[in-house]
Amino acid sequence: MPEIGFLAHNWWVPVLYVLLVGHFTNICVTLYLHRSMTHQGVVFHPVVAHAMRLWLWLTTGMVTREWVAVHRKHHAFSDREGDPHSPAVEGFWEIMLGGVFFYRKATKDQAMLEKYGRGCPDDWIERNVYSRFSFAGILIVLGVDILLFGIGIGLLVWSFMAIWMPIMGNIINGAGHALGYRNFSTKDESRNLYPWGLWIVGEELHNNHHADPKSAKFKAHWWEFDIGWIYIRALSLVRLANVIYARGMSAKEFARKYYADKTEAAARKMEEVSKKAGEAARGIEQAMDRLDGTGGLDRAEA
Ligand SMILES: [Zn+2]
Ligand SMILES: [Zn+2]
Repeated sequence: MPEIGFLAHNWWVPVLYVLLVGHFTNICVTLYLHRSMTHQGVVFHPVVAHAMRLWLWLTTGMVTREWVAVHRKHHAFSDREGDPHSPAVEGFWEIMLGGVFFYRKATKDQAMLEKYGRGCPDDWIERNVYSRFSFAGILIVLGVDILLFGIGIGLLVWSFMAIWMPIMGNIINGAGHALGYRNFSTKDESRNLYPWGLWIVGEELHNNHHADPKSAKFKAHWWEFDIGWIYIRALSLVRLANVIYARGMSAKEFARKYYADKTEAAARKMEEVSKKAGEAARGIEQAMDRLDGTGGLDRAEA
């Protein structure tokens, strides 16, 4: 039997472990919680879906229904009163540094969970294990980390894993609604964080996502990189994922159809108004001409 801490001899092993575990957690959040459970753009084979659910319980302690409900409410009230975590409403640094507390506060609202959390798992294991003992999973992993890396490094590795998800969430909900570029003029403040957010598995393309929430594909331009979508495509190839909807049209076409540029729309509106005003003026002139019965000749002569 290997000794306790047998993986801690080389410094790069715990580092690689944290990065791999973190990356897999990100995959489960974006593929399972977000693109599948919340927006239903993709459905996974039950074995894959459950593996991701189990992994999230072990590494984050997040309850599917709570995450889904808070996120659906975020879409319903994006960047206005009622949004559970908007930097536009609460302040940029409040969300960047303390977004997780806004999330936790929102999950206490039972009526909100009821209203926005429909369609989430409610089987035996959910009721008796995952939801009931939501923190038991991360305690099990604490034991595993200590076995693999010893008490000191094991605790350090576990701490990084424990703060991984809150940090990720804060970046997406904070910077993803304040910094970066926009492809679509959505009503909210959503932004794409590319290229700094490559490691967030596609979630950094937050403006693309808000523009078309149901789409399982977040990338909109050929040069944008959505590794989450690559994983979904790979799973579909081996029939472990079924894509319900993924935006097919180009970003330009989609923007023109649903998010015509505001200035362009305003110019069109002005043109319409002035056309109507011109028609009305001509109508008044003709009516006056008819009234005085001179066909406008008198006025011209006057
Ligand atoms: Zn958002
Ligand atoms: Zn979403």
